[in-house]
Amino acid sequence: MSKAHHCRKCDADLMGRKAHKRRFALDISYKGMPPFKLEIEMPAIPCRSCGTNNAVNESNTEIIICGAIAKAFESLKSKL
Ligand SMILES: [Zn+2]
Repeated sequence: MSKAHHCRKCDADLMGRKAHKRRFALDISYKGMPPFKLEIEMPAIPCRSCGTNNAVNESNTEIIICGAIAKAFESLKSKL
């Protein structure tokens, strides 16, 4: 399966680049809750011209993110 990947920022061709696990930090804020940082690890391809990390669009990415948020809430609850 060879799908063409392009950088989301500069549109450079990312073909032949290998995806690496990258750590993304998100700022989450929910109603009535203090904002907190969420760190997610997911595969991404670094662009060779601008250095932008391009997250690999996998079908299970959303599930991973949801699981990470659920985990973050769990650890937050235990602190309250
Ligand atoms: Zn780029």
